[in-house]
Amino acid sequence: RQATYAALRGLPAKTKDGTHVSLYLNAGLDLDLDMLDQAGADGVGLFRTEFQFLVSETLPRLNDQVALYKRVLEKADGKRVIFRTVDLGGDKVLPALNLKREENPALGWRSIRFALDHKGLFRRQLRALVRAAGTNPLTVMFPMVTVPSEFFEARDLLMKEVVWSEEQTGKKPSKLEVGVMLETPALAFSLSELAGEADFLSVGTNDLMQFFFAADRMTPSVSDRYDLVSPAAMRFLRQVSETCTNHSIRMSACGEATASPLSALCFISLGFHALSMPAGAIGPVKRMVRSVNLEAFREDFLKVLDLPDDAFRNQVLALAADHGV
Ligand code: PEP
Ligand code: MG
Repeated sequence: RQATYAALRGLPAKTKDGTHVSLYLNAGLDLDLDMLDQAGADGVGLFRTEFQFLVSETLPRLNDQVALYKRVLEKADGKRVIFRTVDLGGDKVLPALNLKREENPALGWRSIRFALDHKGLFRRQLRALVRAAGTNPLTVMFPMVTVPSEFFEARDLLMKEVVWSEEQTGKKPSKLEVGVMLETPALAFSLSELAGEADFLSVGTNDLMQFFFAADRMTPSVSDRYDLVSPAAMRFLRQVSETCTNHSIRMSACGEATASPLSALCFISLGFHALSMPAGAIGPVKRMVRSVNLEAFREDFLKVLDLPDDAFRNQVLALAADHGV
């Protein structure tokens, strides 16, 4: 199998009927970028910037952040990198910040909520990103946005840094894309307000599913209890996909679920044609993509989706087998 995946490296992730699927890498260290070519990925679909904060006793300084982001962009060598701004707080506690323990950290003062309440820290990160990009393209996305105003506030801060950088250095990114992660169910019902505003949306399956099923991703006795490959989750994602399509919001998915070829198959059937995943998953998912006749599969998949059935996963597996996937 390993040899088969290596042989796929230079081949496009294209379905039998010609749909191209972009496969991106999830990363958190500059070292992870070494996997880009090896895995045959199209870029980095999720760079978790909080890693640098979590491994350090003190808050990383502006120059340390600039240096990391520059190394990442250099290693990416022109391929797109989506920098996800800090997802700190909750259970990702910083020794340097001395935060209070929370009863429900996943639901707590974390991520974009935390960033917007720590403007000094957040603006320093945005400044580092803009500085690292120089005159190259820059792509940024914000995590755990629950209401559109959080996205707008964060984007305004980013734009201030772009203006400031131009005044100071004469440089600004040649292209700036600003996206939003879909990690809370509430945002799915406000997407129309992001039309023409967010350049893209990326489904963070880990958090989205934990909130959708109300099952803590960190508690082993419940974390695997509910299946992403289930009618409820898939109908929800179908609605997200339709809304994004109606409002011309480009969509993608990251998070661990995209790493399973079966759930990746469900995502591409729902119209998510850009998926970001750990390096080791790219080979198996590309193999799946190249083996499917997507339109034919999709037609059957959507029929199954509307049937009430507890055995949904098995039905989808059987369908995949019927379709030679
Ligand atoms: C997610 O929630 O799916 C995600 C990609 O972010 P993280 O796993 O870092 O919370
Ligand atoms: Mg998340």
